Amino acid sequence: MNTCPRACPDCNEPKPRKKFYHSYCVDCQVIRGLWGNINSRCSDPHSTGYENYGARGIKVCVEWSQSFAAFRTWVISNLGYRPEGHTFDRIDTDGNYEPGNVKWSKRHEQMRNVRHNVLSFEKVKELRTLYASGEWTQMRLAHKYDISQGHVSSIVNNQKWTD
Ligand SMILES: [Zn+2]
Repeated sequence: MNTCPRACPDCNEPKPRKKFYHSYCVDCQVIRGLWGNINSRCSDPHSTGYENYGARGIKVCVEWSQSFAAFRTWVISNLGYRPEGHTFDRIDTDGNYEPGNVKWSKRHEQMRNVRHNVLSFEKVKELRTLYASGEWTQMRLAHKYDISQGHVSSIVNNQKWTD
């Protein structure tokens, strides 16, 4: 940490930088990094995590994806800067990065949500095949894949995970 008398270009305050030569303060760098991450995981097939985001049809709303300023303004005025030990998370894990569907959550909370993301198209295909065989009930499939029975139902009825 290094307090620098220069104002951070994002918040206009002389807040601490991680490194003395960084322009942005620590808080603002977090928001910038976040914006880059959510956009790439939702739109860049080469990015880490794309499989669980872009490939599943999860998007960053147009307002945010096109404007860092819009994203920053919304986050700061609705959620504030990132509290210690928190990550940026979606409330409905099948939903987009958009106003009303994001929050700062404690890491353990996010771990719980990540379990919903354990599914991949490959597993969904397997789940549908098992269900079609008639030997697996929705309840048993829910246990096997660690998802709710409602989720299994929406998968086998093609309401979720459609190509
Ligand atoms: Zn700043």
